[in-house]
Amino acid sequence: MNPPVSESILSISPYKPGKPIEELAREYGVRDAIKLASNENPLGPSPKAMEAVRKALDAVHRYPDGACHELVAKLSAKLAVSPREIVIGNGSDDIIAMLTRAFLQPGDEAVIADPTFLMYEISIKTSGARIVKVPVEESLGMRIDALLGAIGNRCRLVFLCNPNNPTGAVVSTGEFRRLLDGLPEEALLVVDEAYMEFVRDPDCARSLALRATADHPIVTLRTFSKAYGLAGLRVGYGVMPAWVADVLHRVRQPFNVNTLAQVAATAALDDREFLESSIRCVHEGIDWMQRQIAAMGLRCYPTQSNFFLIDVGKSADEVFEAMLRHGVIVRSMRAYGYPACIRVNAGTSRENERFVEALRKVIASS
Ligand SMILES: *Cc1c(COP(=O)(O)O)cnc(C)c1O
Repeated sequence: MNPPVSESILSISPYKPGKPIEELAREYGVRDAIKLASNENPLGPSPKAMEAVRKALDAVHRYPDGACHELVAKLSAKLAVSPREIVIGNGSDDIIAMLTRAFLQPGDEAVIADPTFLMYEISIKTSGARIVKVPVEESLGMRIDALLGAIGNRCRLVFLCNPNNPTGAVVSTGEFRRLLDGLPEEALLVVDEAYMEFVRDPDCARSLALRATADHPIVTLRTFSKAYGLAGLRVGYGVMPAWVADVLHRVRQPFNVNTLAQVAATAALDDREFLESSIRCVHEGIDWMQRQIAAMGLRCYPTQSNFFLIDVGKSADEVFEAMLRHGVIVRSMRAYGYPACIRVNAGTSRENERFVEALRKVIASS
């Protein structure tokens, strides 16, 4: 007999990433495909990061620095927090996994929004804890009262994705404070700010600024995968009270962040010019695409991020398939509970034009 696998693990649906360009070439014979499905940086990686990676290649026979000393020191100075309050991960996904491993036991609960980033659910179920989902508003806004109402006495983690993936909606500073005030002491608040660099709404809650005056422990997650263009290297970080960092270091793999990721992230933090161009490219792209799509008579949801949802008024899976045949990879939101919505991220202006042309044809042809 095989060793038994828990019900909790068996209930996990494996994460389905955005379709890689190479896969589309293999399956559909499409040669010049574009991918606007994983919220990646349209401008590529930071040039300073690439140069740092080239220089570091000679040393990859050595184990990486398990403490990520240089990167932690740079982040500590930039964010004005103690190095003891920073944990670096193999992507922020790694830190999500450390949090659920360290703070959730079978029988505990974790609260998340629905829809939200799918990695929370996968990590929570891996720990054997119970997952409590709070549906967002019809307009996609977070329902803070419902979130607070869903927190029971076994709740240990509350995940708040701000801006939320896949909706693009943000929580205001006032709402965030209300959430903090209502949280029980035993529940840690995890705020995932993977897209914070793109936010234009001045009223959006920024947890790194708010944590100084908050009584409640907050874990802020940030990543180098989006605005910094380093998704393929896998590096993200968390800012948290030192006692939480101390707990995570116990469950963290000793060499969780590879050498190239460390030097690239450290260099990327100095590449302000690249970061600013990336943000500008995304803002221009989002505004242009949303105008074009609205003119086609389709509903776009507002966004504070580098992606947005479009209600295509019919099966999103079919639109996704038809777009593939035009060489454009987007994301169907069926798995997230929105069977008539697709998610697309801003690309280069040429990619955005191709997306709009393809969508126009796909919508017209059915
Ligand atoms: C892309 C994304 C991340 C980043 O994950 P990495 O593991 O750092 O690449 C984290 N959270 C959300 C909500 C995301 O969309």
